[in-house]
Amino acid sequence: MTTAIPTTSRSIAVRPDQPGEVHYTSVPVPAPGPDDVVVKVIRIGVCGTDREIIHGLLGTPPDGTDELVIGHEVLGRVVATGDAVADLNHGDLVSATVRRPDGCPACQAGQSDMCLWGEYQERGIAGQHGFMTEFFAENRAFIVPVPDDLEHVGVLIEPLTVVEKAARQADLIQRRMAYWNVSTAVVLGAGPIGMLGTLLLRSRAIDVTTVARTPKPNPAASIIEASGANYVSSEVESLQALHQRLGNIDLILESTGASILAFDAMTMLGANGVLALLSLTGGNGTAEVPTARINTGLVAGNKVVVGSVNADIEDFTNSVDHLRRFETLWPDLLEQMFTNRIPFDAALGSIAAKADHGIKTLIEFN
Ligand code: BGC
Repeated sequence: MTTAIPTTSRSIAVRPDQPGEVHYTSVPVPAPGPDDVVVKVIRIGVCGTDREIIHGLLGTPPDGTDELVIGHEVLGRVVATGDAVADLNHGDLVSATVRRPDGCPACQAGQSDMCLWGEYQERGIAGQHGFMTEFFAENRAFIVPVPDDLEHVGVLIEPLTVVEKAARQADLIQRRMAYWNVSTAVVLGAGPIGMLGTLLLRSRAIDVTTVARTPKPNPAASIIEASGANYVSSEVESLQALHQRLGNIDLILESTGASILAFDAMTMLGANGVLALLSLTGGNGTAEVPTARINTGLVAGNKVVVGSVNADIEDFTNSVDHLRRFETLWPDLLEQMFTNRIPFDAALGSIAAKADHGIKTLIEFN
């Protein structure tokens, strides 16, 4: 079976030099080279990074154009494969990784998420068009096969990789310890990343408290509590009070987008604990922080603070496995994250908003 592949693809793009501007455009669909796959997009998630790009905080168009097709949380089906692609067929469900390597030693070693030179490209973010488009071509190496039974939630593979990588980093770091048992974890932030991080830690039966500003009840809190985690509003219980109540905190994931919380989290971390920082925070925020207390706490407690960006292909395969695990543990819970589904042809207004007023907006093609 074949699908007619058009030579151009309708897409949603921004002009990074015109903040707030977002429009439909058509970009060429390259004929697939021997190692390439052409994918027809089913749906795509809109993330905070897309909104930041629309509002001019980041985003670089490909060379030779002033527009950038956005979008990187993609799910689609293979419609064509190059001659050298033996393991994917027409109709296969797939997602795709985001980052493309430069020639640095880390990228050459297969870890573009650990890039040294910073000249990497990211589809839909930096230097390459993204996936908010009807069709795209991509090298097989960056395509992630997805089992058919995950079609309804597979669009979460990429956002889940962000916390997959962080949790994997924490595990790797803690190989330094003869004994490390995460019994108490805190997730700061209850957006999609904090929520997926909560589910990932809960799927390991860790005691998780997720902190966000908005008091209960709210839809994010309901999803978080359905996984068995505790949801705390920082307006109801301060971080200091929470810290006192929980005692030793083994692992903290910071995903609020507020840089000061990285430093608050350093004061909350327990002995031998790991704090993984996941928020890219634009602007020039400054604050007064208790440097002596933080430093002594880190030194005397053997604590580790680690930044974590993007994800390795290994995180994508783990993400696929864990989505299935979440579905088994908490049937239908993930779909509650999809608070807004908009047709591609009517998507501009909703994605141009500065924040998602629900949890996750999906753009549906077809
Ligand atoms: C994406 C990552 C990317 C990061 C920085 C995030 O929204 O999920 O893949 O590395 O933005 O550009």
